[in-house]
Amino acid sequence: THDIHIIGGGLAGSEAAWQLAEAGYRVRLSEMRGGGDMTPAHQGDTLAEMVCSNSFRSDDGDSNAVGLLHREMRSLGSIIMREADATKVPAGSALAVDRDLFSGGVTRALSAHPNIAIVRERVDTLPDDGLTIVATGPLTAPGLATSIGAATGKDALAFFDAIAPIVYRDSIDMDVAWMASRWDKVGPIGDGKDYINCPMDKDQYHAFVQGLIDGDKTDFKDWETDTPYFEGCMPIEVMAERGVETLRFGPMKGVGLDNPRTGRWPYAVVQLRQDNALGTLWNMVGFQTKLKHGAQVELFRTIPGLEKAEFARLGGLHRNSFIRSPELLDGQLRLKSAPHIRFAGQITGCEGYVESAAIGLIAARFAAAELGGRTLPPPPPETALGALLGHITGGADAASYQPMNVNFGLFPPLAEEVRKKDRKLGYTQRAGTALAGWMKAAI
Ligand code: FAD
Repeated sequence: THDIHIIGGGLAGSEAAWQLAEAGYRVRLSEMRGGGDMTPAHQGDTLAEMVCSNSFRSDDGDSNAVGLLHREMRSLGSIIMREADATKVPAGSALAVDRDLFSGGVTRALSAHPNIAIVRERVDTLPDDGLTIVATGPLTAPGLATSIGAATGKDALAFFDAIAPIVYRDSIDMDVAWMASRWDKVGPIGDGKDYINCPMDKDQYHAFVQGLIDGDKTDFKDWETDTPYFEGCMPIEVMAERGVETLRFGPMKGVGLDNPRTGRWPYAVVQLRQDNALGTLWNMVGFQTKLKHGAQVELFRTIPGLEKAEFARLGGLHRNSFIRSPELLDGQLRLKSAPHIRFAGQITGCEGYVESAAIGLIAARFAAAELGGRTLPPPPPETALGALLGHITGGADAASYQPMNVNFGLFPPLAEEVRKKDRKLGYTQRAGTALAGWMKAAI
């Protein structure tokens, strides 16, 4: 017996299960991995597995919207933030983690909780009754996706998300590459030398860009050709096609990175970020790609320092599905046509690990209040949680709805007088006051 059924033990479902269990409710958490099923992007059976990068992005809660979301989630007892903080690796001002220690920690915490029953099963239809949270993510298994389509009467929307390769540290030539953070910026646990940098001169860069354009790509089925890419996770070869300078002003920019061998910034650079606590695995920052595996190995070994690179994982591209939330969900994340069902995580059309977990957190808080016979008002729009929720449940235009990372553009504007250099702090300070007021009145 349980009070609530959560389907999907990813970033959102795990957070939701923890929040409800901590509030005293009994949770059945259904996760198909570990029960004989797998998604095209996951590798194992731990809960809250990070499918691509190992980063929760900026941890600066004073001047960055995702850093602010971290802060708000911590103050609401987030298990995802607790385990991320416990397993972090150096990454400048970003919060990056050892992905195995992180998801292992979440799995252990949920398994040990007396109010959570983890069931390794695939769910193929939406339950007819009983409070439910659907958090099956962008790669929801096909049977359940069909059932969701039938319940909503709408085709799901979709976009492409890509994965970047991971390289073994001992295969990188450190006589060519060097360790540095941009502008030598020192993060909370690093020493200002957190990234491995592989330099390129002008000719090498131009040849590389051409190689990306000419490289053998994964073919798409016809129905996929008009599916857009997520702007924040654009494959490098698609960026290369936009113009020869695009990458040099994006993930390959060399500014602020003094090469100790030349005393100058490189013309372009490939950066790698530590991917595990041991420091044996490093991922290529911004190098998500749909090049065929053979073409990736061939081209990436032309990068200075990576001539003998061995890859622990190569890049790939996946089709993500999400629902038309602004039209289908109410302000409490309930399906209007079947209000015993809530949606959470990336399937609602937020984008990113942190955002997915945040929506899991708030869906669970809404459900816990409902189980207690109350209604929890949504967090105010001045908070990161409230701004993100507002985008999903009403702020966005349903017709052109697209996945979104949290950003200050989703917040109500500040007063005109606030000067440009004070604006970020203006948003985050206002959010702090608004969250505290909401927690005092509503939680
Ligand atoms: P998930 O974490 O995917 O969890 C959903 C869970 O539901 C999975 O464990 C799955 O096995 C399970 N499930 C699915 N169907 C069923 C079913 N029928 N029954 C039972 N269980 C089921 N975000 C970032 O911040 N950084 C990145 O670098 C990044 N890269 C991405 C790359 C790819 C290829 C994809 C697909 C997404 C990427 N994302 C990235 C986006 C997103 O943040 C993650 O997908 C995130 O994991 C979403 O959290 P979620 O809980 O909504 O879904």
